[in-house]
Amino acid sequence: MQTVFDAPVDPRLIERSLAASTFGSMWLDVPRPAYPQPTAPVTCDLLVVGGGYTGLWTALHAAERNPDRRIVLIEANRIGWAASGRNGGFVDASLTHGAENGKSRWPNEIDTLDKMGIENLDGMQSDIERLGLDTEWQRTGMLSVATEPHQVDWLRDAADGGEGLFFDTQQVRAEANSPTYLAGLFSADSCAIVHPAKLAFELGRACTEAGVQIYEGANATRLEDDGPGLLVHTATATIAARQVVLATNVYKSLLRRNRLHTVPVYDYVLATEPLSDAQLDRIGWRNRQGIGDCANQFHYYRLTMDNRIVWGGYDAVYHFGGKVDPAYEDRPDTYKRLAAHFFITFPQLDDIRFSHRWAGAIDTNTRFCAHWGLALDDRVAYVNGFTGLGVGAARFAADVCLDLLEGSPTPRTELQMVRERPLPFPPEPAASIGIQATRWSLDRADHSAGRRNIFLRTLDALGLGFDS
Ligand SMILES: Cc1cc2nc3c(=O)[nH]c(=O)nc-3n(C[C@H](O)[C@H](O)[C@H](O)COP(=O)(O)OP(=O)(O)OC[C@H]3O[C@@H](n4cnc5c(N)ncnc54)[C@H](O)[C@@H]3O)c2cc1C
Repeated sequence: MQTVFDAPVDPRLIERSLAASTFGSMWLDVPRPAYPQPTAPVTCDLLVVGGGYTGLWTALHAAERNPDRRIVLIEANRIGWAASGRNGGFVDASLTHGAENGKSRWPNEIDTLDKMGIENLDGMQSDIERLGLDTEWQRTGMLSVATEPHQVDWLRDAADGGEGLFFDTQQVRAEANSPTYLAGLFSADSCAIVHPAKLAFELGRACTEAGVQIYEGANATRLEDDGPGLLVHTATATIAARQVVLATNVYKSLLRRNRLHTVPVYDYVLATEPLSDAQLDRIGWRNRQGIGDCANQFHYYRLTMDNRIVWGGYDAVYHFGGKVDPAYEDRPDTYKRLAAHFFITFPQLDDIRFSHRWAGAIDTNTRFCAHWGLALDDRVAYVNGFTGLGVGAARFAADVCLDLLEGSPTPRTELQMVRERPLPFPPEPAASIGIQATRWSLDRADHSAGRRNIFLRTLDALGLGFDS
């Protein structure tokens, strides 16, 4: 069975649209502050390792909780250069990588998780307003679109379950005019869009203003127990800290026990040149909602302030050995596939060019949403596993890490989701075989009216099933 995205697209159109594209995240094309490298020993109360959203929110909220604490953040490369500077900028309220994943894993606390997710999104908005962060925050809501007949019932059921407003074909095409849309589900409150890199850079500024010392070019290579304190080693300095938060996402954990808990899965993105008013009129996308289609292999897309379309998703690529390697990022076949799917979705835009193409690694765990833990006598907290939905959840994750280090139970640390640890991935070659079989099966399900094969049903029964 074919899906709408199997339709042929003129290869010359694809070639032409990509010919002048620049490789690298468009979001990082803005001025960014530089921070020094540590060159002498440093002492602090709290050391945060990692300068993406998780580390930055951790440092900022730690400083706000206790302004007298000496807080240092170290980043191996530059602030926000990794996933936090490359993502789609969808700030979703979900803490569980979507409603279905949350409901199936924690049916008894999903209402609490949903409530905390909305509180986190509202809290993020008020932090951004309170601190005057220029992040291009827009609370646009999220439009999920059905592009295959079987998906229409999924959206209708979700609307019946209170997840949003159901749109029929005519109504959804009035929101954005694609011949592929059969129905839509609009959730007004649960999603904002943001400029991802500006969010990271502005959080860096807010951290500095709150007294946090940030260092760049400081790759932590070792974490050592040093009596009552901890030592973190970089090539140019050793940092002594009372407590440490590891916010290192997909990169090799400083704790050996964590290394099999996440794998890098590569996600790919295109950005168009700014659309002219006439081009925007052709698709009628006036309300600027974030849009996602709802197959297992899905696309996500949104407008920027200058009316580019950022278009990503579909291929999610795992490479044997589980390495994070920049060589995996420039993948011509994937960019061509993304371009083809773009023109199937918006054939009216056949005169558009893509200005940028880029990729990033997503830290995937076996439950598809963040997991936490404590180590070294509860002086080290860590979080990993956002699996592609971490822009909003990172702020919640940071608060959980700080709660865990403070030691007294809070409504966040009492959550089953926070207390439970997911199963690790098996070592290679089993990891590769399992992940490729899952991906193949998900693609088959998309081509079989959503029906999941025996392999996926077995994973579902074991609590390892992925549902986008
Ligand atoms: C292409 C793409 C699209 C995405 N789209 C979305 C989206 O639209 N919405 C959404 O919610 N999520 C999305 N995500 C996921 C989201 O970007 C991440 O979940 C989020 O940015 C994670 O933030 P982080 O701070 O945990 O990780 P990162 O941003 O990866 O930051 C971790 C930092 O730690 C540093 N580090 C690692 N090891 C060390 C060390 N030993 N010493 C010092 N520093 C170290 C790294 O250099 C890095 O800067 C997307 C991800 C990608 C790749």
